[in-house]
Amino acid sequence: MKVVVVGCTHAGTAAVRELLMKHPETEVDVFERREDISFLSCGIALYLEGTVGRLEDMFYATPASLEALGPHVHVHLKHDVLSIDAADHRILAENLKTGNQQHYQYDKLVMATGSYPVVPPISGVSIPRVLMCKNYDDARRIKESAKDAEHIAIVGGGYIGVELAEAYSRNHKQVTLINGVSPLLSHYVDLPLSHEISEALTTRGVELKANTVAKHFDSDDQHVFIQTDKGEIQADLAVVCVGFRPMTELLIGQVDMNPDGSIHVNDYMQTSNPDIFAAGDAVAVHFNPTGKDAYAPLATNAVRQGMMAGANLFKPTIKYMGTQATSALKLYDHNLGVTGLTLAHAKRNHLSAASVTMTDDFRPPFMPDTVKITMVLVYDTDDRRILGAQFYSQYDIVNAANLISVMIQNRNTIDQLAYVDMLFNPNYDKPWHYLNLLGQLAVTQADNTTA
Ligand SMILES: Cc1cc2nc3c(=O)[nH]c(=O)nc-3n(C[C@H](O)[C@H](O)[C@H](O)COP(=O)(O)OP(=O)(O)OC[C@H]3O[C@@H](n4cnc5c(N)ncnc54)[C@H](O)[C@@H]3O)c2cc1C
Repeated sequence: MKVVVVGCTHAGTAAVRELLMKHPETEVDVFERREDISFLSCGIALYLEGTVGRLEDMFYATPASLEALGPHVHVHLKHDVLSIDAADHRILAENLKTGNQQHYQYDKLVMATGSYPVVPPISGVSIPRVLMCKNYDDARRIKESAKDAEHIAIVGGGYIGVELAEAYSRNHKQVTLINGVSPLLSHYVDLPLSHEISEALTTRGVELKANTVAKHFDSDDQHVFIQTDKGEIQADLAVVCVGFRPMTELLIGQVDMNPDGSIHVNDYMQTSNPDIFAAGDAVAVHFNPTGKDAYAPLATNAVRQGMMAGANLFKPTIKYMGTQATSALKLYDHNLGVTGLTLAHAKRNHLSAASVTMTDDFRPPFMPDTVKITMVLVYDTDDRRILGAQFYSQYDIVNAANLISVMIQNRNTIDQLAYVDMLFNPNYDKPWHYLNLLGQLAVTQADNTTA
């Protein structure tokens, strides 16, 4: 069996490892246009704020470590795959150092080309004081450029924008966070938490420009000038992080794709062409709360899907369970954990959904200290199924999102959450665990609404 893997960050690395663990004799050619593999972008903000000292520690695999997994493994760095010919089972790759182009045959191909950072429809976005934030080179560029910058503008109020705003406010930079029309972190939280998070940033000195759309960038030797629909903002550096889109041009017209360009795969990571598997940011996930394809570019999905592509290449072996797009963020001294649908997102999907919001101490008042947790539970008012949850606290509450993720996966209801067995120990909770209490609040609301 000859296997070609295109792209080698998380999905590609996971696919190669799993494939070779099960079938070490496989002939594998891995193509990566960069000079590195397996970079953990999730550490970029920690590096920029100084919590993690070295970017180089954020790689967890090397070409040599992959090549050691089997006798016929070749990792081709600085090789750009220019085309995939699915009918002839071959690819054309260019060696970016020599300019040589060569065809390679395959029996099975893994498409792990990931995503592009979205470049907003703004002119002047490629000027040197305007940077993107995606990979190792971007991280180095931002670090270098930010050294002399006193005022940094961040464009985009998703996870990455918020993390960068925090990082630079911790470093006593003047930070302006420019966020378009949706509320801060609106993919992840509903309005009450979005407001709390905005406040956390503004009390640390971050200037928040909400409902402000960046339209044009310009620069001189020292400054960048950002024209927005609400006037000009001047800074020393701008970092644009407004989301990602799938990088799938190589397979256009050759496999089924969604309108957003993400590749549609079956439960075994197989595309509509049985010899082409796909995983990671290039692919749509099966989003369990809606039962539909969704685009959720997360490392969690990439490693899971990559591993499954590797496991299923020879024969269907591991079935994908879908995802709730569970994720977390540390913001100053607070922790945010989320899973599934927000109420706004549920309504956009035409679900008859409702939510409860609860703020409570996580443990009894007789303990020497306790802190508040804010919790939001989103449920379907028709069948009382749990659809999503959000947790925010100084207490490390992010695993509550993992637990609700499993409940969504298993199609559990608010009634089951209200009474499911959970531990009690005053160090950790009250006689009724805070998740039981959240479920009970939802049950009371749902009963009162239907009564
Ligand atoms: C700043 C930042 C923070 C993040 N934080 C988190 C987090 O905390 N938690 C989380 O779950 N996710 C996080 N993510 C998302 C996560 O990094 C991505 O979901 C993940 O990188 C996707 O992995 P991938 O392998 O599918 O794609 P990518 O990481 O996009 O990698 C694709 C690879 O394919 C290569 N490639 C593409 N086309 C070709 C070609 N034609 N020829 C050769 N090579 C090619 C690219 O060079 C690239 O190396 C973060 C992302 C960023 C940018």
